Amino acid sequence: MTRTIKRIAVFCGSNFGRGDAYKDGAAALGRAFVRHGIGLVYGGTNKGLMAVLADAVLAGGGSVHGVLTTRLHGKGHLHPGLKDFEVLPTMGTRKARMAELADAFIALPGGIGTLEEFMEVWTLNQLGEIDKPGGLLDIAGFYAPFMGFIDHMIAESFLPAAHRGSIVVTPDAEALIEGLVSYRKVDVPKWM
Ligand code: AMP
Repeated sequence: MTRTIKRIAVFCGSNFGRGDAYKDGAAALGRAFVRHGIGLVYGGTNKGLMAVLADAVLAGGGSVHGVLTTRLHGKGHLHPGLKDFEVLPTMGTRKARMAELADAFIALPGGIGTLEEFMEVWTLNQLGEIDKPGGLLDIAGFYAPFMGFIDHMIAESFLPAAHRGSIVVTPDAEALIEGLVSYRKVDVPKWM
């Protein structure tokens, strides 16, 4: 059984990161979205990897939907190429709207904003509030230390081991989309 995935919300750095690998990986994901006819939902800005990703989708003629906060919109952060965007009052309402619009979630390398957004949707899946798979595009091994910390949670009995497998982690954009499309919900209780 596969899932129909029409739109994916992507969380990623509002900075570019060091070197070219992160930019290259973000652009590769954008091109993969276009190949698969998947629409991008993202923070709607012209900053860092967020802009690189949106540019790649727009350049390929794909669909991009931006969801910004009033504050960031007021600061002039809106990506100038977006025809399709909405402005919401807070980060909380914005995240809820992105989760509503998307069929799945991806995090690229980023900072605390990226992690916070991804952890929220992973938690909502774990608690059963949503059934929309998530994955990490592990460019240049960026997420290896994070997954090491997840392993520490498992070793210390704060997280069931099966829940490590409830997200797709790969450096390859095609494999990531494939993993989300074929994702099967992990049915292991949260409480041990
Ligand atoms: P960070 O990883 O800390 O750079 O934050 C990036 C994440 O937080 C993105 O996925 C956005 O959803 C949100 N975010 C951070 N900065 C902005 C911005 N200037 N405009 C819109 N969203 C932002």
